[in-house]
Amino acid sequence: MPLQVIIVGAGLAGLASGIALRKQGHIVNIYEKSKFTTEIGAAISLSPNANRVLAGLGWDIKRVNVASHHATKSFLSDAQEGGPAMVNGTNCQDVYEHPMCMAHRADIHKELARLATDMDGIGPPCTIHLGSGVIHCDVAKGSVTLSDQSVVRGDLVIGADGINSFMREHVLGQKIDPQPSGLGAYRVVIPFEEIANNPELSYISDDPDTVVFVRGKEITKYIVFYPCRGRELLNIVAVHQDKRRGTVSDLSNISAPSTMEAFLDSFSDYAPRYLELVKLSKKVVLWPLLIWDELPTWTNGRTCILGDAAHAMFPILGQGISMGLEDVAALGALFPPDTPSDFETISSRLRLWESIRKPRVTKIQSISNRMGRGLPGITVSGELETEIYGYDAEREARMALEASQSSGEPTVENSPRTQLDVPPQLLASL
Ligand SMILES: Cc1cc2nc3c(=O)[nH]c(=O)nc-3n(C[C@H](O)[C@H](O)[C@H](O)COP(=O)(O)OP(=O)(O)OC[C@H]3O[C@@H](n4cnc5c(N)ncnc54)[C@H](O)[C@@H]3O)c2cc1C
Repeated sequence: MPLQVIIVGAGLAGLASGIALRKQGHIVNIYEKSKFTTEIGAAISLSPNANRVLAGLGWDIKRVNVASHHATKSFLSDAQEGGPAMVNGTNCQDVYEHPMCMAHRADIHKELARLATDMDGIGPPCTIHLGSGVIHCDVAKGSVTLSDQSVVRGDLVIGADGINSFMREHVLGQKIDPQPSGLGAYRVVIPFEEIANNPELSYISDDPDTVVFVRGKEITKYIVFYPCRGRELLNIVAVHQDKRRGTVSDLSNISAPSTMEAFLDSFSDYAPRYLELVKLSKKVVLWPLLIWDELPTWTNGRTCILGDAAHAMFPILGQGISMGLEDVAALGALFPPDTPSDFETISSRLRLWESIRKPRVTKIQSISNRMGRGLPGITVSGELETEIYGYDAEREARMALEASQSSGEPTVENSPRTQLDVPPQLLASL
């Protein structure tokens, strides 16, 4: 019998979870509070470990109009002329068999929604219920109450409801939310045409398929930009001290409107050629960078949280959605078509999933969040690059399930833990 799966949230991790579980033959209903009338978000970089998961979900990269990435460049904020101070990059397709690329969140979302609901896909198509916010969850029974007061019950409930998750409190039995770190990021997209038409911005248009960092004098300040939607748009993220005052709830709003003038003011110490870019910003959104420690658990009874709901992190390593997608691949592998629906099996599989995912994600989250703790950032290169980009989440989970089944139904105790080899000198400072 297929499992009845409830997913709360049709963001990137929620839709990907739907695809992974329909592929296993399960019946998936996804409840989403928004009606998706506007395009949400800017661009996201998809590293090889994310693209490995997406390929496994049947994703056709050509449908998403990604921008390819071949190098990362670093410029100094006071350099008005000249090229980058540092260039690095790996040919990820050759080394990891999956590319590094950049795409607009709305384009990724659209393709995941298509794959989740496609009548010709593997397994029963998911049903997405828009405008259906979840207002209560019984984690042991596997039931959720919707905003119209109706109650739906499943064998497995997945909270994929993002950084300001409602499901988190139900899974934890207490309220633990990420807090404003004092840092924020302006997010802007600019038509690439406008860049190409401006001679002052030739340092961008001469070599567009790159991720460019313009590092400020403080470790907590940088502008990063890269193309997306083919090369139609340039995506900008500008991290800085967020001087706003307000309640935690105001400061946790992930899409607060801002202005080009505020952006310009925060980066007034940057050389004119960078400010020329800032001046092209029309719609500026201010994302707060929220910070927290590892949660005590991600699972409870028949219910789990994943993606940003469980482990939102700073964007510096570009691993936020990648970690969510890895969660999804591992979860799909642990719930194959023959999975019994009794409480013991579901809850122990979820604990096995958590035991595989949490050590890896927590280390990557800790490295990503260093900046929020006033520590210098770490770039993804060398052994750390191999550990992050070379990881195959689905394979790890399949092996863990096989190992646990050969020694009895999976438990936290008998499941293997994955290791992320971070250099000891780095761990010492985490
Ligand atoms: C500045 C910045 C740059 C970033 N850059 C990158 C990058 O380069 N690479 C990367 O991998 N990641 C990046 N990220 C992180 C990435 O955007 C997130 O990790 C990712 O979008 C989270 O996906 P999610 O599905 O967990 O949550 P979301 O995409 O937030 O989806 C949650 C969904 O749940 C819905 N929802 C909420 N509450 C309810 C409810 N009660 N009932 C029903 N539905 C509900 C919401 O409406 C939403 O649709 C960046 C983040 C920031 C802040």
